[in-house]
Amino acid sequence: MIGKAYLVGSGPGGLGLLTLRAREVIDSADVVLYDQLPGEEILSTLPQDAELIDCGKYGGNHTLKQHEIEALMVEKVREGKTVVRLKGGDPFLFGRGGEEIEVLREHGISVEVVPGVTSAIAVPEMVGIPVTHRRYASQVTFITGHEDPTKPESALDWEVLSRLKGTLVILMGVKNLPAIAAALAVHGKDPATPVAIIERGLRPDQRVTVGTLSDIVEVARARGVRPPAVIVIGGVVELYGGTEE
Ligand code: SAH
Repeated sequence: MIGKAYLVGSGPGGLGLLTLRAREVIDSADVVLYDQLPGEEILSTLPQDAELIDCGKYGGNHTLKQHEIEALMVEKVREGKTVVRLKGGDPFLFGRGGEEIEVLREHGISVEVVPGVTSAIAVPEMVGIPVTHRRYASQVTFITGHEDPTKPESALDWEVLSRLKGTLVILMGVKNLPAIAAALAVHGKDPATPVAIIERGLRPDQRVTVGTLSDIVEVARARGVRPPAVIVIGGVVELYGGTEE
């Protein structure tokens, strides 16, 4: 007997943005492998009779390595279990969902993907920042800030990114923010371009920090900005609807 695997996006945090399909699939699970990103509100509703496996990262320490997570999923499905891999936001946007589905398919396991509301759009949105707007941005680029832009083998072309007229949305970018801001500045991005950093979006302790490309590094440092946070760079930040705490 062989079970089934689901790759499920939890949305950016909070039960309100968990899809009905995600709820249904989670509630049917025998095993849930979860990250911390879905947040306490969602994680506290995981089925207590299921086997719950924490795959989260703690200050850069992974409880389980990526290949161990993939091997566990394969093992549990082979035992005939219904296995849910629960990830923050959408599973296919910087969530390594693509890698997991490849491994499962290699083992002949059928996988259903349940899309989630991505933090890349929803987190700025919830503070009034639209990632596109006819007046400010007719395109939006999502990038990972995980890569150090000063590394010669960086997969990102900072020269092209600096020239783009639209919005830049950066996930996992807090640690490398100084290098990212410098890379954009070096390639000629306007230092007055507005920047917003939204930490812990949709959580009770959400916080927004705004600045410009030229001062955001200093402002973020002074305010002790920490991950997880979505960084938005572009004119749309002018639409930010709140005040900083
Ligand atoms: N697949 C996820 C992103 C995974 S990468 C999605 O679609 O949302 C992890 C990064 O997502 C974090 O480092 C942070 O940049 C961002 N992120 C996810 N949830 C967030 C939240 N609630 N608040 C702020 N940033 C968040």
